[in-house]
Amino acid sequence: PPTYENLEDFSPALDSQLAENKAFSNWFNHNTAEHKIAGYRAVILSLKAPGSPPGDVTEKQLDAIAELADQYSFGLIRSLHSQNLAFADVQKSGLFNLWQALEKLNLATPNIGTLTDIICCPGLDFCSLANATSIPIAKEISERFDDLDYLYDLGEINIKLSGCMNGCAHQSVGHIGILGVDKKGAEWYQITLGGSSEENATLGARLGPAVSKANITDAIEKILDTYLELRLEEEAFLQTVRRTGVQPFKEKVYAN
Ligand code: SF4
Repeated sequence: PPTYENLEDFSPALDSQLAENKAFSNWFNHNTAEHKIAGYRAVILSLKAPGSPPGDVTEKQLDAIAELADQYSFGLIRSLHSQNLAFADVQKSGLFNLWQALEKLNLATPNIGTLTDIICCPGLDFCSLANATSIPIAKEISERFDDLDYLYDLGEINIKLSGCMNGCAHQSVGHIGILGVDKKGAEWYQITLGGSSEENATLGARLGPAVSKANITDAIEKILDTYLELRLEEEAFLQTVRRTGVQPFKEKVYAN
């Protein structure tokens, strides 16, 4: 393990930075996680800026990330299956400066664990096996739902989006799974709801017939509206779908 310093867990400077700066506090709450060593936190670098292909990083960003890792996290960068990067061991006293540096690099979108933290395969843009594009769909969804207050109100929802039945993005275990299919040369998308890869792992239930490319983001919006109508207090999306089944979502998405 890295040679951790012996630190106090409470950082008065961090406390006042969090109280004074809403953007920093949003980032802290969503893009950092508890650490078992006092005085440290883990930081997730969001590769899910609105409009960017999920998981993409440029060579300039990578160079800068490597320098920041040297400065803040023992020179180690971890790549996560969620298509983000992590600095696992950051001192709390360095979080504010690190956040400012990540902001400049467009790597601090405070959306980890929210709807726009989409896991997406390369799809038709890059993969010769694909039936349908996936990156443009992820882009459309992340641009449509870019209001942070709305995302935070929705709570934890993951979308997993694959461009063919090989399912590289594991859409069948997404809270919302989207699978690209080919229908007579056109791109369509099958939606599943209620999948999970965590404890109580479940395959999502198919919502109904595939939805056209032009309508897929509208369909996602109808699903979210239905969830907001149906949810009980503090009930997460996955719990609501498990309680109600897919029928009410289906009625909304396929209503004329
Ligand atoms: S799910 Fe299909 S389209 Fe996407 S990367 Fe895998 S093989 Fe390619």
